[in-house]
Amino acid sequence: MSDKNFETKAIRTQIERSQFQEHSTPLYLTSSFVFEDAEDMRASFSEEKERNIYSRFSNPNTSEFVEKVVKMEGAEEGYAFATGMAAIFSTFAALLNSGDHIVSVRAVFGSTHTLFTKYFPKWNIETSYFDINNPSEIEALIKPSTKILYAESPTNPGVDIIDLELLGEIAKKHHLLLVIDNCFATPYIQQPISYGADLVIHSATKLMDGQGRVLGGVVVGKADLIREIYLFSRNTGPALSPFNAWVLSKSLETLAVRVDRHCENALKLAEFLENHKQVSTIKYPFLPSHPQYKIAKKQMKLGGNIIAIEVKGALEAGKKFLNAIKMCSLSANLGDTRTIVTHPASTTHSKLTTDEQLAAGITPGLVRISVGLENVNDVINDINQALNS
Ligand SMILES: *Cc1c(COP(=O)(O)O)cnc(C)c1O
Repeated sequence: MSDKNFETKAIRTQIERSQFQEHSTPLYLTSSFVFEDAEDMRASFSEEKERNIYSRFSNPNTSEFVEKVVKMEGAEEGYAFATGMAAIFSTFAALLNSGDHIVSVRAVFGSTHTLFTKYFPKWNIETSYFDINNPSEIEALIKPSTKILYAESPTNPGVDIIDLELLGEIAKKHHLLLVIDNCFATPYIQQPISYGADLVIHSATKLMDGQGRVLGGVVVGKADLIREIYLFSRNTGPALSPFNAWVLSKSLETLAVRVDRHCENALKLAEFLENHKQVSTIKYPFLPSHPQYKIAKKQMKLGGNIIAIEVKGALEAGKKFLNAIKMCSLSANLGDTRTIVTHPASTTHSKLTTDEQLAAGITPGLVRISVGLENVNDVINDINQALNS
């Protein structure tokens, strides 16, 4: 399968058929698996045999989902989690020791930020942050105890772009593990491993499911690192459910066509909003006005489905705009078939102080739009009427 193209890998990677010769992979809703005899049981537990034992360790449906993501990202191995946050937490927890240090981009997903600031310090793991507009400061932040260089690109919610090639070079030079949250881009748009990432994390809840149904997470990358993450997870229990894995594996079969349309719609909406008199700033990676447009063009196949705008009149105007929305959803999710509008300062990033929000590029009037798969003219009309109201 490694000789096949992206879409084919997403569709044609499948676990062995059962005796019924089904075409579509069935759902293996079972918590455990049976052994032939005592010797089979012993060999399975000692890992002399690779086979399913218990669905907290592995399950045919989770294996199929993971194998697809491994191939789509160009990774060696992977493990699937109940949520994106379980994947992020387990990765750090499995690989870091007390006294280790993380260097991360400042603008990370809200709950990841909470891990860094509230929980990891309890275990003596500290994080230093670099500014998206100043990647030259990264090297100055690196200490002898630094283990992981961490970033998201595009960032949430500011849609800033970080140069993955540069991060790969810095990680290599300083012998750091480069870990990238590739949730906003998906492996269809960008493959961080080709720039030297050791691990790539996804919240599968977003574009991978793409239909707002299930939660899930996945980590893929180097086999020795995944082994550590697997052992940690097998013992601590953040595993993805077989049902959600089955849904997600099916969803990946349509990822490429969905993301193509998501991005086409997003670019059309971004071009419309760029000239709108009620919009003071707009950020979309594939608009030439984006501050990191050149880097986006270098490392991304398409611009993604997230647009960040600043409504003229800041907080009050932002609230008024949201209240005037008629069709689009006000929801905390993203990467759904339905266009979603959110106000990060009062929702996803409300746990940050005002200073932390501003440092992460979250201004009071910032509105994040996750462009869906409706006819884009209907999306444009709804957002336009809300802006003009
Ligand atoms: C949603 C999201 C997460 C967390 O994923 P969950 O599945 O909600 O736990 C992590 N990173 C990014 C960039 C996200 O958008």
